[in-house]
Amino acid sequence: MQTRILKVSSKNPSLSQIRKAARIIKSGGLVAFPTETVYGLGANALDSKSVRKIFEAKGRPSDNPLIIHISDIAELGILAENIPSTAFDLIEKFWPGPLTLVLKKSKIVPKIVTGGLDSVAVRMPKNKVALELIRLCGTPIAAPSANIAGRPSPTRAEHVSEDLNGKISMILDGGPTKIGIESTVIDLSSKTPMLLRPGGITIEQLQKILGKISIHPIVFGKKTKTIIRSPGMKYRHYSPKAKIILIEGSKPKIRKKISELSKYYKSQGLRVGILGANIGSDLTKSQASQQKIAASLFKSFREFDAKKIDIILAQGTSNKGLGLGIMNRLGKAAYKKIRV
Ligand code: AMP
Ligand code: MG
Repeated sequence: MQTRILKVSSKNPSLSQIRKAARIIKSGGLVAFPTETVYGLGANALDSKSVRKIFEAKGRPSDNPLIIHISDIAELGILAENIPSTAFDLIEKFWPGPLTLVLKKSKIVPKIVTGGLDSVAVRMPKNKVALELIRLCGTPIAAPSANIAGRPSPTRAEHVSEDLNGKISMILDGGPTKIGIESTVIDLSSKTPMLLRPGGITIEQLQKILGKISIHPIVFGKKTKTIIRSPGMKYRHYSPKAKIILIEGSKPKIRKKISELSKYYKSQGLRVGILGANIGSDLTKSQASQQKIAASLFKSFREFDAKKIDIILAQGTSNKGLGLGIMNRLGKAAYKKIRV
């Protein structure tokens, strides 16, 4: 299969380009498209056959559910049942945006989309290309990140092409994505809201609206006996080919450890990359720097791979704000964690 790449501005998108992509999705094919978080690999969410192609193209395990993307709130009522009022409070504040709601699924949603679960994950993305694409398709779009399963999520069209060229019909190239890590996933399908994945909307922002939120232990990478509410959680994710060693603790100690380890691995003839320590003087100093880290994290993973780096020494950051999402991604990708 040949993969067509169409450039389209995320600020002021050409509808004629997006119409070509919509035609592909309506006829059962796959299109990768930009969102404000990462690039998504989209198919008609209400058609099992189309959705199956997503799992095949990515090599994604069939019990790892997909997020359904909508462009109009009316579509939520078709996909979900027993929607609590808190969902609408969140929607009012954060949609369109990087927040995914897990709700009880309606019958119309094929089981293949939810990995066999009775719940469904839904979000309205903020990128104009994504919104227009969904609108022109006239159907909700199921879309996981547009990478080969286990690889870092793509934040540029070139990353999608690296992983999926020849396996999908089209890539809409809307330039680099703004946020750079995936959406926050919150489960509202039982009594206390539960954070399943930290992301673009911070837990502090959610707490302002919801009050108490429980955090699934797996968010911190803890092994757990509690039921895995989201099967996707059990997979190691976001990994570059290089081995990541995540170093947490006080900053001066982290620096010292990084320099020690760097010398050691280099003496072993390995190629070493350093992540974080070279970004400004203080990773946690400001929100601005966290936004920058999030926006470039997956790109850095891929760049290290292109440079054939063997070991990435990554500096840990705080779990506050966007930091929780960043640390979750680093933790999931890490081969080893060291506390100093
Ligand atoms: P991706 O778009 O590749 O980042 O993957 C989507 C993620 O959304 C999955 O890995 C799950 O963590 C989450 N998700 C999707 N559907 C559900 C659901 N019904 N219940 C819980 N989590 C879900
Ligand atoms: Mg993914």
